[in-house]
Amino acid sequence: MTRKRQLPFGVYIKQQPSNFIIYGIIYGAENMSGTKQAKAFGTHAADKPLEALDIRRRNAMPHDVEIEILYCGVCHSDLHQARNDWHGTTYPCVPGHEIVGKVTAVGAHVTKFKAGDLAAIGCMVDSCRECEQCKNDLEQFCDASPTYTYNSPDKHLGGRTYGGYSEHIVVDEHFVLRVPSNLDLAATAPLLCAGITTYSPLKHWKVGAGSRVGVVGIGGLGHMAVKLAKAMGAYVVAFTTSASKMEEAKRLGADEAVVSTDKEAMSKHGKSLHVIVDTVAAAHDVNMYLSLLKLDGALVLVGLPDSALPVQPFNIVSNRRIFTGSSIGGIAETQEMLDFCSKHNIVADIELIDIQHINEGYERMLKGDVRYRFVIDMASLKK
Ligand code: NAP
Ligand code: ZN
Ligand code: ZN
Repeated sequence: MTRKRQLPFGVYIKQQPSNFIIYGIIYGAENMSGTKQAKAFGTHAADKPLEALDIRRRNAMPHDVEIEILYCGVCHSDLHQARNDWHGTTYPCVPGHEIVGKVTAVGAHVTKFKAGDLAAIGCMVDSCRECEQCKNDLEQFCDASPTYTYNSPDKHLGGRTYGGYSEHIVVDEHFVLRVPSNLDLAATAPLLCAGITTYSPLKHWKVGAGSRVGVVGIGGLGHMAVKLAKAMGAYVVAFTTSASKMEEAKRLGADEAVVSTDKEAMSKHGKSLHVIVDTVAAAHDVNMYLSLLKLDGALVLVGLPDSALPVQPFNIVSNRRIFTGSSIGGIAETQEMLDFCSKHNIVADIELIDIQHINEGYERMLKGDVRYRFVIDMASLKK
């Protein structure tokens, strides 16, 4: 059901049960100098493919940076959200939170960026900035919930935020990252989610020389975890369900690779690891991995399957093991990760695709058939 209503500041909108589509110019409000149209790709329902659609972006306000999006990585979270796997999606949904591009305009108070600079956006575009977590550079744990790059309430325009499968985006400069100049731009995009989501727990659990780190699931996040843990000096063991990824995991930097269905090979790693980063996007047996941890070792879940993952009590009581999780990373830590990647020359291994192939891309991602991250060449949006 769609009906028309007028907002207090003079905009006519079509109101649908779950979102607003603004199709007039926004007048009058102090913080709303107007909006402009942007081409995008998104979906109108969990069981519908992504397709071309138009969205509106606010014009840059005093602290905002407007970015023309050049490349956007394709995270499994995009697929979860588009298909309502987490049961909270508002449609239309425009995914994408691994964004790199070029600054096209800045607000009057912006100091970090100027037109023509490269810039990047990750999974968050705002937070309350006042709670203890925000003040400690942990915006990802904001008490009021961060404003995620897509499918969060849009404080400025109403409706929901729209992600990076689009022509441009406007974001407060605090949430805009500087892009290292020595890295391939398209292959840098996945660092903005896959990179920080694996860097943050490795840092938190103090991975370094002498650490033995397991990585479960060699996909977008997993292949970054291998590269980052190796660059931090760890001994890295990759666990995969795909025999074809064994040799590749070693090429990515793993010291050993194990097919997780091979019980004998798995048992050789019992009680051997300090930290395991589990990136699996579907229900799986975490007990098998908990038993590979040493005393006080931590299994850090970053994958987000929408189902409970039963833990055997004996598996954590004995050896005082820790079953924990981690969510992306704060803005300062994301910049630190980008600088770390610049220093160690680390980017994602990518397959560059046109936006018109995104639905096939999702199907391949579900099969674990990506080497190792799709990145959308956003120039294809103009086709
Ligand atoms: P991805 O590229 O699809 O990689 C996931 C990998 O998990 C696959 O390549 C596959 O690796 C393995 N896998 C998939 N299905 C499996 C199954 N049924 N059993 C065992 N292994 C399976 O996904 P991604 O983009 O890396 O994202 C992974 C998960 O992390 C998603 O749930 C995503 O939503 C979540 N995520 C969380 C955060 C956070 O802040 N915590 C941030 C971003 C993403 P092998 O072929 O090697 O087995
Ligand atoms: Zn992501
Ligand atoms: Zn906060």
